[in-house]
Amino acid sequence: MKYAAPSSVEEATSLLSSSPSAQVFAGATDIVPQIHGGRQAPEVLVDLKKIDELVSLTSDDKKWTVGAATPTVELTENQAFSQEFPGISEAAGLIGSDQIQSRSSLGGNLCNGSPAADSVPAMMVNGTRALIAGPKGNRLVDVSEVVTGPGQTCLDSDEFVVEFEIDRAPSLTGDAYLRMIPRTEMDIAVVGAGARVTLAEDGTIAAAALALGAVAPTVVRVTAAEEALIGTTADEDTLAVVAAAASAVCNPIDDKRGTIAYREQVAGVLAKRAVLIAMERAQQRNGDV
Ligand SMILES: Cc1cc2nc3c(=O)[nH]c(=O)nc-3n(C[C@H](O)[C@H](O)[C@H](O)COP(=O)(O)OP(=O)(O)OC[C@H]3O[C@@H](n4cnc5c(N)ncnc54)[C@H](O)[C@@H]3O)c2cc1C
Repeated sequence: MKYAAPSSVEEATSLLSSSPSAQVFAGATDIVPQIHGGRQAPEVLVDLKKIDELVSLTSDDKKWTVGAATPTVELTENQAFSQEFPGISEAAGLIGSDQIQSRSSLGGNLCNGSPAADSVPAMMVNGTRALIAGPKGNRLVDVSEVVTGPGQTCLDSDEFVVEFEIDRAPSLTGDAYLRMIPRTEMDIAVVGAGARVTLAEDGTIAAAALALGAVAPTVVRVTAAEEALIGTTADEDTLAVVAAAASAVCNPIDDKRGTIAYREQVAGVLAKRAVLIAMERAQQRNGDV
């Protein structure tokens, strides 16, 4: 196995194109344990962390841009980002431990293709887009379309994610991410729930997004819940509809960490709680972009 550390997107693309089994990595917190666990090692491991735009976190008046290999700790430590997207920030802050977060990236979390990846529901509810580079040029793909199944993505073998784009959150908008794990930390979600809410001036919900992780082969949107929330104040009756819709959308596995019935039940509970936290945050974010 060879190691390559390109300093530009073009160099990385040509390395990937020239070697049939080359593979990119960022923090290596998924790929190295997988290789140690017996997965076939690629011929060339292409390190993305030496490319400037892949390890940056910037914003302008339209959007935030997060380099795909940026250590997730930077998302939790950046105050402006955390204030605007507390849900993405708290999801990033749940990945493993301090040591893991100093290496792990959003690009790796997404492209590893785990249904339980913590950042993915949080990115999805915020309409995050992935800029994908390849020999034929760049393409912009909604994060919800990147993972096609457990461990599988829509990327060709010579493509990789350069960065993520997240539109600036309008005022009266809040997001949240919650997960249930059997232990208190360092565990994988049995259920993860990301929610985002935008309020109208009268305090009712003008827009809502809800996504669940670890309950199906890929992260799922709960569109019935999103529709039910519009025009309401997330009262008890509406939250009961949200919980039922969240449970209904689940298609989970049954394993030692949670039965199907347990995951369905927990999905409903976390969905309601995540919506309420997003609501509360939306009420507090009035006026500032
Ligand atoms: C102890 C421990 C605890 C963990 N806890 C959690 C947890 O609580 N929650 C959680 O979600 N995950 C957890 N993980 C898994 C892992 O840390 C995360 O998924 C992390 O975000 C992966 O990022 P990375 O940069 O290290 O990925 P890497 O290992 O570098 O890459 C992972 C995969 O993505 C591909 N890839 C990486 N970057 C790109 C890119 N830019 N474009 C295309 N493909 C790319 C690689 O080829 C590889 O297949 C844990 C891992 C460990 C070892």
